[in-house]
Amino acid sequence: MTEEEVLARVDAFLAEHPPNGTEPLPFLRARFDAGLAWVHYPVGLGGLGAPRSWQAQVDARFTAAGAPSNRPERNVIGLGMAAPTIAAHGTEEQQARWLRPLWTGEEVWCQLFSEPGAGSDLAALATRAARDGDGWVVDGQKVWTSSAHFARWALLVARTDPDVPKHQGITYFVCDMTAPGVEVRPLRQATGEAEFNEVFLTGVRIPDAQRLGDIGAGWQIARTTLMNERIAIGGVREREQGMIGRLTETWRNRPELRSRALHDQVLQCWVAAEVSRLAGERLRRQLAAGAPGPEGSAAKLVLAELNQQISSVELELLGEEGLRYDEWTMGRPDRLDFTARTPGYRYLRARGNSIEGGTSEILRNVVAERVLGLPTEPRVDTDRAWKDLPR
Ligand SMILES: Cc1cc2nc3c(=O)[nH]c(=O)nc-3n(C[C@H](O)[C@H](O)[C@H](O)COP(=O)(O)OP(=O)(O)OC[C@H]3O[C@@H](n4cnc5c(N)ncnc54)[C@H](O)[C@@H]3O)c2cc1C
Repeated sequence: MTEEEVLARVDAFLAEHPPNGTEPLPFLRARFDAGLAWVHYPVGLGGLGAPRSWQAQVDARFTAAGAPSNRPERNVIGLGMAAPTIAAHGTEEQQARWLRPLWTGEEVWCQLFSEPGAGSDLAALATRAARDGDGWVVDGQKVWTSSAHFARWALLVARTDPDVPKHQGITYFVCDMTAPGVEVRPLRQATGEAEFNEVFLTGVRIPDAQRLGDIGAGWQIARTTLMNERIAIGGVREREQGMIGRLTETWRNRPELRSRALHDQVLQCWVAAEVSRLAGERLRRQLAAGAPGPEGSAAKLVLAELNQQISSVELELLGEEGLRYDEWTMGRPDRLDFTARTPGYRYLRARGNSIEGGTSEILRNVVAERVLGLPTEPRVDTDRAWKDLPR
């Protein structure tokens, strides 16, 4: 099949399902079934087995026709991380069960990775999964779990063998967030709202059919998720979209706030935002030709620092006005929206950018070791059984 043939299929689909005459959900389900959700996935799983690089054109044609969107900003973890992980490591049954409702947004996903004692050092995790008949029983605690309060499924890594070194004793599961023993408690952030949660897992039963990949192979699979996470977090597509858009809008519309010193800072932010956007675009094209590489870590690192810089300049420009806060009651948002909120919200929320999806320090390590080829950090815990490591 050629790219033109795929685009002709899009046109035929749009003729058969005119966007303004179809409800969003049936439209999205039909688009998935027609193989036009993500064209590089296999036939029957939302795709046509076509090159990934054709997806951008397909998406553009749907957007131009005013087609309903599957709201990626609500299901970032599902679309950005769960889908590529399940596509790479799931069985055919698992792919058939999870990918369709994930893509249509009917089922939202969260990520049960971080623990109180295992964040940057994720391989140190202590949540235990013990074999029990044809399934597993999971006990432990996860933390900072974004979207757990409305997610249906979770990506879960758990320790299945404490007697081997930490990276080898981890297994990857999909956890049903409605299963007995899953308790989600809100964690309030500096912004006032609780986007994320603590999740307590007490005697949670997971059927073996919900194990992703081999027993003990969880670390390698988690790396697929983490590499995709950095790309999923990474950046805007349009010029002056996102944080920089709000800053430049204020700069243009409020001449009374301008000063020479701030002029220089606004310009620096604009240039850096544009460089980051274009580098992100190049990364997406690179990704279209293969799997995400370590360069995604550099893009995420730069974006986090840039968001913090832009939000600081915005506050400085607005002075006292910028410090006013719009809403302090604890909300439980189902999407992150930097542009609809106040500058004070943007300033506070941007602090989390350098922590979520891997801290900036860790990403610098990744860039140093895997992009620049510098010597790795000394590690003393790779040959010892996890149970013998000091905690
Ligand atoms: C807004 C937000 C949303 C999140 N959502 C999720 C989610 O949905 N699911 C999930 O599983 N997790 C989530 N997280 C958790 C996030 O991934 C972790 O917070 C992060 O990996 C850091 O782990 P930690 O908090 O345990 O910090 P630690 O690992 O304890 O690190 C503390 C500090 O030490 C530094 N440090 C640690 N090791 C090194 C090293 N080797 N070299 C140099 N510096 C080092 C770190 O960079 C950091 O500055 C979220 C976090 C935030 C802020």
